[in-house]
Amino acid sequence: MVAWHAWLQARTASRKRRGRGMSLDAERLDRFARHIVLPEIGGAGQVALAGKHLVLVGLGGIGSPALQYLAAAGIGRLTLVDDDKVELSNLQRQTLFNTRDVGHGKAVIAKRWVTGFDPALDVTISDRRITRDNAHELVIDADLILDGTDNFATRLAVSDACVAERVPLLSAAVGRFQGQVGAFAGHLPGEACYRCFVGDAFDAEDCDTCAEDGMLGAMAGWAASFAALQAVRILLDGASTLGESDWGRVHLLDGLKPALRSFTIAKDPACSGCGSAA
Ligand SMILES: [Zn+2]
Repeated sequence: MVAWHAWLQARTASRKRRGRGMSLDAERLDRFARHIVLPEIGGAGQVALAGKHLVLVGLGGIGSPALQYLAAAGIGRLTLVDDDKVELSNLQRQTLFNTRDVGHGKAVIAKRWVTGFDPALDVTISDRRITRDNAHELVIDADLILDGTDNFATRLAVSDACVAERVPLLSAAVGRFQGQVGAFAGHLPGEACYRCFVGDAFDAEDCDTCAEDGMLGAMAGWAASFAALQAVRILLDGASTLGESDWGRVHLLDGLKPALRSFTIAKDPACSGCGSAA
């Protein structure tokens, strides 16, 4: 065990010189040992993750399992946003919650889970409903937003705020046996935003569909863990060889076949979120 630590410490120290002056103590080296031995992440990548701030919008079918992998990945600062309370029908897929939590606020329960899981992580919560007015203050300080909310009005408000505040957005959705995960940086020249992908037709508040359609619980888990994988990839861009933002790339997960299909969204010059009309 001592030799293992010494080896990891030496390896981390050598890679850290390319990093940003942070370090991992023996307890953190042990916790993240299976990341650090991966050449694609290494000590430098783990140190980079510790310095990142991810805002997770929605703690439901996507956000709940995703949070467990994001916290486990050692992303140092997490902001958790959800105005809902836990319902019994959530428990079939929202793995963060248990029967005792029914009736309690998701954001508070989620913070309690993270604090118990890894007290070293810095967790902030917001239990206000996201609107076009308050979306900006929630995204402004983040390295990445992961949006797993289930209605288009919120998604588009978050997307427009991300473009305005120049923050990248990872968007994830799931319904029935279909999942969708896409990375957007509409603030960058030539890169699409989420609104380029879905258009303006969904701005109304009454477009929610997931609740009525049903969803296989494990399907939400697949989309959520895929989103967590993509989040780590984006946060490591420039810090390790795993890092790859791949802006505009959307992945469709088909749980019935099962299969994965991927394509790239082009920037819409007329987009009201990121185009010349914005
Ligand atoms: Zn756009």
